[in-house]
Amino acid sequence: MIVLVTGGTGFIGSNLVRCLLGAGASVRVLDDLSTGRQENLDGLNGGLDIVVGDVRDGELLASVVRGTEVVYHLAALPSVARSIADPVATHDVNATGTLKVLLSARDAGARRVVYASSSSVYGDTPTLPKHEGMPVAPLSPYAASKLAGEAYCRSFTRSFSLETVALRFFNVFGPRQDPASQYAAVIPRFVNQVLQGESPTVFGDGEQSRDFTYIGNVVQACVLAAEAAAEASGRAMNVGFGRRTTLLELIQILGRIVGREIEPAFAPPRPGDVRDSLADISMAERLIGYRPLMDLRGGLTETVEWFERARRRIAVPARSMEEGER
Ligand code: NAD
Repeated sequence: MIVLVTGGTGFIGSNLVRCLLGAGASVRVLDDLSTGRQENLDGLNGGLDIVVGDVRDGELLASVVRGTEVVYHLAALPSVARSIADPVATHDVNATGTLKVLLSARDAGARRVVYASSSSVYGDTPTLPKHEGMPVAPLSPYAASKLAGEAYCRSFTRSFSLETVALRFFNVFGPRQDPASQYAAVIPRFVNQVLQGESPTVFGDGEQSRDFTYIGNVVQACVLAAEAAAEASGRAMNVGFGRRTTLLELIQILGRIVGREIEPAFAPPRPGDVRDSLADISMAERLIGYRPLMDLRGGLTETVEWFERARRRIAVPARSMEEGER
């Protein structure tokens, strides 16, 4: 089977590519390397074809989609802060880019598009857990653009019978996540600070909570979404771990993993941060057979080990700013 992974040199994409190659698929990657890194796919060969280019380039898309059965569309500008700084750029890549991917998948006769959406479409609702029946309320241009992508997916299933499945990821973490990005997520930032012997910076009281989801669970959900029965098509569903953890609890668990007590450094709360987040994952369980295989402690242990190995290869500067909800 030939599959296309847009955004395949990024954090989630490169982990997905590894899994797909391991399962014997021929994988094409389309990525402009704007936030992804070619070295994320180092050491992989056999059935891997990397095309450096933009998902908004219709001609290029037509050539890379040709002959593929499944398109995993992960390419995006994945940052809330960046979308606030430049909403048009975010819309262009995330919404228009998704429309173009769907058009080319339709025209090439691909069977299914799996789309990376985001828990941010729910906004800061106090109702927990967040379930798909709740009204959406995107608060940032990033969230609005991811929701627009979902709407395009659904509309292509209805209008053109192209199968689509949108997955709303909740705070994904794990190996190959970039801790040095200005927009880095909280776990790679904490792990990087802890491994450098620094106190992890906590904005606010640390009681804010997230449904941290290990990358292996997310990769598993992507693969299941590509293979699930037609009932899943045209739907958007949550992919989380299904439990929430506060930042202070996270620091405690990290301390147990590295074998010492970690003292957080508190900083003023950041306006606009979502307070709590938790996924109801029953729809994904029912429609695609998703069951998270790795818990937080196990995922964090693998992440710390990977970052330790990576640090031995290259020193990573700690200059990150955490993203609330992506
Ligand atoms: P990432 O930045 O590591 O990956 C995004 C990839 O898209 C990068 O490789 C980047 O180079 C590529 N890209 C960006 N613009 C492109 C363009 N115009 N053409 C081609 N390639 C382009 O981020 P990630 O965390 O791996 O996110 C992957 C997807 O998952 C995104 O769609 C993001 O919105 C979604 N998501 C991620 C999280 C999370 O917690 N990481 C949560 C919710 C949703």
